[in-house]
Order: sequence, then C-alpha cells, then structure tokens
Amino acid sequence: MDITKFRKKVIEGLVEMPLQMDFMPAENQHVLEEAGKKQICSSCYRENVAELGRKLAKNRTSKTKFRCNECSKFLCLSCFFVLHNAKSI
Ligand SMILES: [Zn+2]
Ligand SMILES: [Zn+2]
Repeated sequence: MDITKFRKKVIEGLVEMPLQMDFMPAENQHVLEEAGKKQICSSCYRENVAELGRKLAKNRTSKTKFRCNECSKFLCLSCFFVLHNAKSI
C-alpha cells in the first residue's frame, strides 16, 4: 500500500494509526541551526516595524546567526523560545 492511500485510510478511520511511523516526520520539529551569515531576526523585525515603521526597524533590529530549520526564518534566541515555547535547545 502506498503512503498516500495509507494516509487516506488513516484519516477515514479505516486503519489504526501505528504508534511509530517512521515515514512520517515528527511534528513541531523546530530546531535552531547556525546559519553561515547573520540576518535580522524576522520576529523582532516584525515587532519593530509595527512600532517604528519599516525604515527604522531595519536599523534597530538585532542580527542573529540562528535560523529555525522548520520555519526557515532567522530568529534570535529569545524569539525562538517565545515562539516555540521551547525550554532549552
Ligand atoms: Zn528576535
Ligand atoms: Zn520554527
């Protein structure tokens, strides 16, 4: 049975979901990774834009070398933890 058909059956309740499905990626797998060069934190930037406007925001926003591989966004550490409710890396 191919995965698409299998998933459809699971959704329809025809097949019981096995506890461990190695072909399904775990959800909420947000991992910080170190990127090569620094970029501004997209979350801080958005907050600053709301507060200061686009022009100022770009200068005021601190840069980060960390990036969430799941969101594909540059995030400073504090934003990452706030956004993802993470307690530690
Ligand atoms: Zn930030
Ligand atoms: Zn993320």
